[in-house]
This record gives sequence, C-alpha cells and structure tokens, in this order.
Amino acid sequence: TIGMVVIDSTGEIWAGTSTNGANNKIPGRVGDSPVMGAGAYASNHGGGAAATGDGDIMMRFLPSYRAVLEMEKGAPPDTAAKIAMKQIARHYPDFSGALVAVNPSGEHGAYCYGFSEFSYSVASTVSHSAYVVKVPCH
Ligand code: ASP
Repeated sequence: TIGMVVIDSTGEIWAGTSTNGANNKIPGRVGDSPVMGAGAYASNHGGGAAATGDGDIMMRFLPSYRAVLEMEKGAPPDTAAKIAMKQIARHYPDFSGALVAVNPSGEHGAYCYGFSEFSYSVASTVSHSAYVVKVPCH
C-alpha cells in the first residue's frame, strides 16, 4: 500500500491510499485501504493518517480514524499512531501493520508493529526539503 497525507497551501488536510491488496486474495475482497477511517482518514482539526498491513484485521479497528481522533485530543503523531496500532495488537498479537500520522502543524510520526522495518518519506514545499524517516518496528 502507498498511503499519503497532504497539507495543502490553504491548510486543508487530505489522506489517501493506493494498494495492490493482499496476496492470494479472494475475488471481491475489499480490504482496509479504500475504507475511510481504516486505510486513511483526515480532518482539518486533527490531521491525517494512513495505514498499511494486514487489512482484513486492521479494517475492524479503523486505526487511521483512531489516530486522527487522538491527535485531535492533543496526542503527538507518533503517540497517536502507537495508540491506534497497539489497540489492534492487543487483540491480534500476530498481525503486521504500520501507520503514519501528521498533525495540522506538519509534525509527523509513525508506529510499526510486526514488520522488520518501516520507513516513510516527508516532502515540504515550504522548507524545500525531502527526506526518509526510518521507524523501528515492535
Ligand atoms: N492493507 C493492504 C490490504 O490489506 C495491504 C498492504 O498494506 O500492503 O489490502
């Protein structure tokens, strides 16, 4: 899955995903990526989030929505991502997934569970910079 969170020049926040789905998926499988709140979610007050991983499990918990709600309540992005992913791990300790979160100030963070490694890219037209952030997985 490729997930993206964008803050545009007017401060509007957007999130979306594109995915090839899961290996050996059955015809008609939807997965988490196109489901609002599961694969991605954005609110101008809380920020945006996008997720990747075991979509059949993750879609039951709306982790992107949860992360945005946590940021709305004041959590920093990495904490919001952690709360969303640990909620899933409590029920499904063998699942794999990662979530990237961005708040309205442009601060970003991620939490990764069950993968060997996870990284995401950050680009800014304000600071004219682009770089990769590597996140240790749990
Ligand atoms: N979440 C996607 C799905 O289950 C797969 C992925 O993130 O690679 O369809």
